[in-house]
Amino acid sequence: MSKKKKKKKNIYLYLDILLVLILLIGIIYIITNNNKESNNENNKNNINNNETEPEPILDSNKEKLEKLGNINKELDFFKMEYLDRYISYKDKHPELDNETIIVYVNIGLDNSFYTNVEDSPNKHTNTVLSNKYYFLGDDYVPKDLVTINNNYSSGDKKMTKDAAKAFEEMARDAKKAGYNVRAVSTYRSYSYQQNLYNNYAKSDGKEKADTYSARPGYSEHQTGLAVDVDNTKVSYTKFGTTKEFGWMKDNCYKYGFILRYTKETEFITGYMNEPWHYRYVGKDIAKYIYEHPMTYEEYYVRFLENK
Ligand SMILES: [Zn+2]
Repeated sequence: MSKKKKKKKNIYLYLDILLVLILLIGIIYIITNNNKESNNENNKNNINNNETEPEPILDSNKEKLEKLGNINKELDFFKMEYLDRYISYKDKHPELDNETIIVYVNIGLDNSFYTNVEDSPNKHTNTVLSNKYYFLGDDYVPKDLVTINNNYSSGDKKMTKDAAKAFEEMARDAKKAGYNVRAVSTYRSYSYQQNLYNNYAKSDGKEKADTYSARPGYSEHQTGLAVDVDNTKVSYTKFGTTKEFGWMKDNCYKYGFILRYTKETEFITGYMNEPWHYRYVGKDIAKYIYEHPMTYEEYYVRFLENK
């Protein structure tokens, strides 16, 4: 064998060894990586526990999140499954910040009223949500309706036990301070609301009626937690012009009530300004909303939904 040939043979041997080494390194790399991945999977499964859907931050979602800019995924009311809805709402409302977009979409405002309707949450509690996206049903009747003390109502008016007690206390304190606050409409059954709405729709047309009257099954009055008031002197529709309205605006939260429908929030609630309509939500929530003005829809999305 010539020296040259021997050298060549040696080079082939080195090349063979190199190839085997590369193969080995490759195999080790693949094995360790697989282990890492399955560990990750295990961790993920541990984190998600019994949840059916795994954490879906996919590459496609990452791009969408970037489109939204500095969206705060840490907000506990952020819903990854609504990402497309957030993006298209932001396209239509570039003036809104991301937190507001999340709240509004979660409320359902990217859909027209009375579309994408769901069953009312928290039924038979003081936090039940009834609006144009949540349906109470035609058979919903509050379990603990009681009649309000007749001194503070026009005829027999019923509310749930908690709400009735709070209303009587409020009306009594108002009277002591020189104000007349009287309940003129409280609990209304499904069929009562059906007649009411149909009559309004007949005389004013559906579109107009929708701005001031709930369709049957959607009225807050059906929860037994809402009350329309007057001052015993002028029609309840003029309550906003009375001194009693001033007292109610500043004091109703102390008894667990909130002013439910204002001019500024018509686009959220779907109802025109109703200075006469109050909703019982309990003292803690009422105080929070008084100190941080927002609709009950916004409060619900921020603090109660998914809790
Ligand atoms: Zn009302």
